[in-house]
Amino acid sequence: MNTMKVNVVTPDGPVYESDVEMVSTKAQTGELGIMPGHIPMVAPLQIGAVRLKKGGNTEFVAVSGGFLEVRPDTVTVLAQTAEKSDNIDVERAMRAKERAEQRLREKQQENVDFRRAELALQRAINRISIAQGKL
Ligand code: ATP
Repeated sequence: MNTMKVNVVTPDGPVYESDVEMVSTKAQTGELGIMPGHIPMVAPLQIGAVRLKKGGNTEFVAVSGGFLEVRPDTVTVLAQTAEKSDNIDVERAMRAKERAEQRLREKQQENVDFRRAELALQRAINRISIAQGKL
């Protein structure tokens, strides 16, 4: 089977490394699917899942934006944050979701940073859906 090396790295260090048959994720321009031999490119990513297909199995990594870089035989995802689905703390994400929703509700009364709360909510929802396998 034709494979390529995939690395997911964050400012805190590497999160995932493996040889896979296909990588798919949400770029800012839409869904992106990369297979071995893809032309070199760089694409900015959205908050979402990176799906890594190998040997009939698919692994999921939650990322909160960043870049995907394709080089010959290697794909690197440089993410602001990244967690493998098994390492996601669902309770923590639920608490983050509630905090963000509360901030969005308070928006009229106080000077809340709306965009920041919205992004926190998106990160929390992304983590919860990936951990629960609802994609
Ligand atoms: P929180 O308010 O719970 O910190 P957040 O979305 O603000 O959530 P981030 O700033 O995106 O958190 O991430 C900070 C660090 O914590 C990163 O290393 C990230 O991987 C980790 N992290 C955040 N939420 C979770 C989670 N639910 N499970 C595991 N790791 C998490």
